[in-house]
Amino acid sequence: MAHEGLPVNQKLHSRIASSNPMCIRCQMEEESVGHCIFDCPNSVEAWRLAEFEVPAQQTEPWKRWSEFTQATILRSHNYSSDIELAANLCWQIWKVRNELVFNKK
Ligand SMILES: [Zn+2]
Repeated sequence: MAHEGLPVNQKLHSRIASSNPMCIRCQMEEESVGHCIFDCPNSVEAWRLAEFEVPAQQTEPWKRWSEFTQATILRSHNYSSDIELAANLCWQIWKVRNELVFNKK
């Protein structure tokens, strides 16, 4: 999860006070990396449709990613393909979010 490397709104707000820290997709919570990738209702639905179980909320997204990959190893019959799919899903979630931010789609 790039150790909080994604330029989410919460992070931007910590540097630019006038910016909006809220999630652009749901407007219900501040957009942290964890919220953006795992907990936003849109993201929850994407993980659910792909039949992944997302670990419960923790403070650091990379810990959740680590738990998530371990849980996937335990239940998967095709681990590398599942992890590839999960990484792709993260990328797709980030892309959709950016489309909304930059192109208002
Ligand atoms: Zn959201």
